[in-house]
Amino acid sequence: MKYYMPTTVLDDDDVVLKSGEVFKKLGTKALIVTGKSSAKKCGALDDVIKVLDEEGISHTIFDEVVENPPIAQNYDGAIKGKGCDFVIGIGGGSPMDTAKGIAILLKHGTDDYVEKLFGKVDYDSIPVVAIPTTSGTGSEVTPYSVFTDDVKKTKVSMARRIFPTYSLIDVKYFKTMPKNVRISTVIDALSHSIESYINTKSSPYSELYALRGIEIFGEHKELLDKEEISTDVQGDFVRASTYAGVAIAQTGTSLPHSLGYAITYNFGVPHGIANGMFLPEFLRVSPVDRRNTVLSALGFGSIDEFAVYLDKLVKLIAKDVSVTEEDMIAYTELLMENKAKLKCHPTEVTHEDILTIYKNTLK
Ligand code: NAP
Ligand code: ZN
Repeated sequence: MKYYMPTTVLDDDDVVLKSGEVFKKLGTKALIVTGKSSAKKCGALDDVIKVLDEEGISHTIFDEVVENPPIAQNYDGAIKGKGCDFVIGIGGGSPMDTAKGIAILLKHGTDDYVEKLFGKVDYDSIPVVAIPTTSGTGSEVTPYSVFTDDVKKTKVSMARRIFPTYSLIDVKYFKTMPKNVRISTVIDALSHSIESYINTKSSPYSELYALRGIEIFGEHKELLDKEEISTDVQGDFVRASTYAGVAIAQTGTSLPHSLGYAITYNFGVPHGIANGMFLPEFLRVSPVDRRNTVLSALGFGSIDEFAVYLDKLVKLIAKDVSVTEEDMIAYTELLMENKAKLKCHPTEVTHEDILTIYKNTLK
């Protein structure tokens, strides 16, 4: 059994403004990595710039990260950040994941960058500080980064494993999330917890975090699609997402994530919803004792009840998903090549099983 979580998590009101000493330890020049606008909107970027200025740390901003970032964004960010000592990723999973890839290239150079991120040699990185603004991916405490691969026509995990050195969490940054981003990212966190709990690599350590994440979702599930939620409830969702991140850092994700990648790639469905839609059918092919524990922690009496609840949320966000049988077969073939994800599922699943999950979910 192994439990490894090297990221220092600082979770507090105004945590960025209080973290001058943290940034100072990491160097004198920072690259800040963000999406187009949310880091500004939620106030995190201003806080970071203020504290860096106070500490005399110079900075460069790479604010071009798009949702489900293509691999090449790591190269663009590294060119922009040449000479920086550390990287600060602010945002949802897309900027935080890209901050990790860029941090490798800033240490080892941009030549052959795809090989450095996905090849066999294990390159390390300069330090990364992650500041999450969505309550979903847990990237602030995971070593993973996920990018869009236009050659394979799906999403792929970077081969390198980069834990952020620090993760700075402040609930105020999550308040500007639009309702649909909140729904999708909270469901992503739920998928992480469930896929970690039902996983060949789960252990009592990972289960502690995974089950608490599932329980928190169960406690607040009726509030998820409200226009407004209280700061306390938002804080609970944020913690559920970080707990789920700690859990998948130990186990990885499994079938729902690999089933969802093709749906995001082909229909632009947000990551969390693309995984979440497969959770009921995933539970049907999962060991009964684990499945029952999950349903009971969620407060649902049956898989069907859970499916009805999720379907309402999925329909709010994933409107135009129409997949032919031929496409489902192609997605299934792609998934069957992802041996790492298949190995995480406790029982053997066949091509037929996966195709059935696609058909039953997308019917
Ligand atoms: P995201 O793609 O980072 O962001 C989604 C949208 O939400 C963007 O439009 C973003 O705007 C906006 N947004 C973010 N925070 C906001 C805030 N506080 N207020 C207003 N708008 C906000 O979404 P995500 O679901 O967090 O990340 C998904 C990515 O993470 C996927 O690529 C997925 O594969 C990956 N992922 C990684 C891990 C991991 O362990 N590393 C785990 C699961 C998923 P801007 O573009 O302006 O920022
Ligand atoms: Zn995810």
